[in-house]
Amino acid sequence: MTDWLARLAAECRATGNAELLADLDALAYQLVETTDDAVGHALVAARLDAVRSELARRERLHAAVPTLSDPRAPRYEQWRDLARQVRERHAGILDLLDGSYGPFRRRGSDEYHGPCPHCGGSDRFIVWPGPTGRFWCRRCGCRGDVIDAYRLVRPTADFHAAVAELAADVGLPAPEAEAKRPPAAAPATDRLVLTSFGGVPIGPTAAPASESETRP
Ligand SMILES: [Zn+2]
Repeated sequence: MTDWLARLAAECRATGNAELLADLDALAYQLVETTDDAVGHALVAARLDAVRSELARRERLHAAVPTLSDPRAPRYEQWRDLARQVRERHAGILDLLDGSYGPFRRRGSDEYHGPCPHCGGSDRFIVWPGPTGRFWCRRCGCRGDVIDAYRLVRPTADFHAAVAELAADVGLPAPEAEAKRPPAAAPATDRLVLTSFGGVPIGPTAAPASESETRP
C-alpha cells in the first residue's frame, strides 16, 4: 500500500498542471459515485489526496520561486473547464470503447458490459453511455470518463490532445497554444491498477460470484 501511494505520488508529479486540475473534478465526481463501495471510495479518495498534495506542492514552489509555473494560472484553468464541458457534452464513450475493446452487450436499461482493456474477461467491464458517460471494471477497479476512454483507445494521446479532439467532436474550440504541445511521456494506460487495498483484495479473487464469464 505504501508502495502504491509512492507510485501514485510519482504519477502525479509526472502529470501536467491542466490535467491535475481536471483530475480534481473527475475524482470529485467519482468520490460521490462510489459512496456505496468502500474500497472503490477509498481508492478514489487516495488518488484525490495525491492530486491535491501535488498541486499544493507546486503552489508552494511557485510562491517561493515565481518564475516556476503557477498551477492555478488561467491557461491551465481553461483546459480544466474545457475538460469539464467535454465530459458533460460528449456522448461517444461507448462507441470509443466498443470500437477497440468490444463487443459490449446491453444489460438493463442503461449499461453495457464487455471485456476490460486492462484485465480482459468478457463482461466485467461496464460502460454507462451518453453525456457524463463513464466506465468501471468490477475486477481491477479501473474507472473513468470519456477522456479516460479516449486515452485507453489512443494510448499516445496526452491529456491536451484527448481533450482537444473530443472538444472538436462537440464543436468546442481548444486553446491554440496548448493543443500544439507534444504528447506527454506517460500514456494513460500506465495508470496504476491496484490489486489490494488495506489488506482487502480487489484483484481476480475479489470478483463478484455473479460474473458469468468463464476464464481460461
Ligand atoms: Zn479490469
